[in-house]
Amino acid sequence: MSLKPTQPGVQADAISAGGGDGEAGQTGQRFMFAAGERDAGLQAFAQPGSHLQVIKADGGRVASDAEQKRGEEVAESSAWARKIHCRKVTITGCPAPLPPVFFGYFIGLTEFIMSFTFPPHAQPSLPVAGSAARFPVRRIFCVGRNYADHAREMGAADQAEGREPPFFFMKPADALVGGAGEVSVRYPSLTANLHHEVEMIVALGAGGENVAVDAANSLIFGYAVGLDLTRRDIQAAAKAKGHPWDMGKGFDQSAVASEILPATACGHPRQGRIHLDVNGETRQAGDLSDMMWNVPDIIANLSTFVRLEAGDLIYTGTPAGVGPLQRGDRLLAEVAGVGRLQAVIV
Ligand code: MN
Repeated sequence: MSLKPTQPGVQADAISAGGGDGEAGQTGQRFMFAAGERDAGLQAFAQPGSHLQVIKADGGRVASDAEQKRGEEVAESSAWARKIHCRKVTITGCPAPLPPVFFGYFIGLTEFIMSFTFPPHAQPSLPVAGSAARFPVRRIFCVGRNYADHAREMGAADQAEGREPPFFFMKPADALVGGAGEVSVRYPSLTANLHHEVEMIVALGAGGENVAVDAANSLIFGYAVGLDLTRRDIQAAAKAKGHPWDMGKGFDQSAVASEILPATACGHPRQGRIHLDVNGETRQAGDLSDMMWNVPDIIANLSTFVRLEAGDLIYTGTPAGVGPLQRGDRLLAEVAGVGRLQAVIV
């Protein structure tokens, strides 16, 4: 019997021991672990030459030093641990009696039966410059009309003149497409007016709610260059009817992003040129210092609406010059001090 690997990166609600610590199992007995406290884990101890494992429900974060051993037959007696990313785990089969040293631990055969009805989708993620580790993306927030000249070109005088603040909307995390090198982006369905919006992206490495402005930078993992692609015709029709923007903004591959540059490398850019060239011609240009809400303001404000979490991306708004894209267009977006994003519309 082999250990079925859990899906990496599936939203982890914690695991707590439904059977209670210290409950020794009999062969064939099933233990159910249910969702509980966040960031729990399971600790497993292997015995040599067997497929047995002792499983302990652990309320704390468990080191994942044997993550690479998933699915392998147990060969050593060394203790190892792994974090479980799932909502529910069933462990079947338990030898008895429990060795005293394992008192308090669950013991079971090496099969985890997941409660998913189908394999969970891959975790959306972005590469990180200078690292082999990828950044797992949780949610995508976007700021609307954060540059006065763009608010003006959209006919939003109240926002352009500061009488109305910017606002937020969202895209689903799996609308994300990106990375280093040229990113291929599919021209979406049901539009004849796909618009580019070049934006700086903030990638959060920590969460919080009601975050103070002067504490906001401490949540930031890094920065990236992004395109908030927009079906402008669908968005305009929704606006006219007072309908939601989702189908104008949150379609597949609508969130384009470069690799992420960690703040440890670039600091916290608050001024510098942001621009987009299409087929070698500059279409959008502005300066980060022209944002109506700067990045700490955005984080502080957004954190009053929702609890922010590590993995959240925030598209911080676009300068003026938005316009239509065609299939075959080649895009170069740059944010000074952050990096560049190259894309082709196909
Ligand atoms: Mn935008």
